[in-house]
Amino acid sequence: MGKVSIALRGWRFDEDDVFTDDGELRPIDEMDEEIRERIVRLTAVAGQPCDACWLTYGDANIEQCNVARIVYGEPLHEVVLCADHEPDFLYWFRETGGEDLTDRPSAFEDGFYEWFDDGSRAPDGYGGMEYVTTEPDEVPNPQPDVDVPTLEEELAEMDDEELDALGVDLSDLDV
Ligand SMILES: [Zn+2]
Repeated sequence: MGKVSIALRGWRFDEDDVFTDDGELRPIDEMDEEIRERIVRLTAVAGQPCDACWLTYGDANIEQCNVARIVYGEPLHEVVLCADHEPDFLYWFRETGGEDLTDRPSAFEDGFYEWFDDGSRAPDGYGGMEYVTTEPDEVPNPQPDVDVPTLEEELAEMDDEELDALGVDLSDLDV
């Protein structure tokens, strides 16, 4: 079964869980709850500024922030990053104990923010993705973005009540 990323690199899905045999996105109310939560969350974080850029520039200089291309962590506690800052995140994850926080989503998120905000960075030239060779499922390999126009259409058709009914809390976006 193939793995795919949708909208942002990072989170991966089993192709069969999110697409029909015809390559259409499955109706999200037919997806497993955990998958649905991520898919819906992706629509909220896609287009957001990179967290590390935001920590650097803040709301006052939001136009200097890159748009995030990569998402790690758990829904509502995710870390979103631009390509420039991904090596910092991967260094934190692999070399400074970030990986140990994987089971504690809010500590994971806060841990990276604190580390970065303290001025910590990956060493120059830390390569990031090409170092991933032994555990491809732990930290995903780069993949071409999958363009899924039907996802936004699907969500646009749902009102807040329907999203509530699916257990998706979109009021918590600033967490
Ligand atoms: Zn950035």
